[in-house]
Order: sequence, then structure tokens, then C-alpha cells
Amino acid sequence: MESSRTPGQVVLIVEDNSANLLLARTVLERGGYSVATAQTADEVRRYLQSATPDLILMDIGLPGQDGLSLTREIKSMSQMATIPIVAVTAHAMANDEQRARAAGCDGYVSKPFRARQLLDELAAILGPDRDQAAV
Ligand code: MN
Repeated sequence: MESSRTPGQVVLIVEDNSANLLLARTVLERGGYSVATAQTADEVRRYLQSATPDLILMDIGLPGQDGLSLTREIKSMSQMATIPIVAVTAHAMANDEQRARAAGCDGYVSKPFRARQLLDELAAILGPDRDQAAV
């Protein structure tokens, strides 16, 4: 996959299922993103203590604290509120997207997703060359 994307845009993938995590990581790395990963809400909190990703890809179905609750928490943190969060749900129920957006998510993808679909959703939020466009 070809990409003119500026290397260095970091996406934090939050996904408890290892196979799904590997799939998302592969797609995003081929799309030119740098990837960080977390499998639980606690791992996300730890990560955010020392880093600020450009975008968070958030699995809604997590063990323990779910992705919608975690999204609300992140969006309530003043330093983190502007990080775009794209929700990922396994079973596309009619109101999944509505619930995700109500929790503060900026985008939405349902599993199983096609690689292009995921990359398009992220590019729509981040833009093709956000780093170069930034001041
Ligand atoms: Mn899950």
C-alpha cells in the first residue's frame, strides 16, 4: 500500500482481542501510521500519562470498563479532550453509532472492516498530511 502520509502520526489502538489488534496494527502501519497499543482501560490510562496520540481507535467491547465509558473519561480530561476517538464495534446495532457519538466519539467503524474503510475514516479526521499542515 502506497502512502504519502507523513510518518509520525501516532494512533493508539485499544483492542482486547489479540487477532483484531494485530489486524488493525497491520492496516494502520501499512497506511503510514505509527502505532501504540493497549488492551485494557488501565493500559490506556497508563499510556496517556506519558504520551498524547494523534488519534485513538477504540474498541467498544473491552473487559471491565468498556470503550464508551473510557471515551467519556478521556473526553473529560482537559489535556486529552481534543484527541479524536474512533469507535470500533463488533456487532453493528442500529444505535451503536449514535451511542458512540453520544459518548464523545468523533468517528465510527464496525467490525469486520475493510482496510480502505478504516484508513478513509482516519484520514477524514486527521487529514492526509496533518503534521505538515500544522504550524
Ligand atoms: Mn473487544
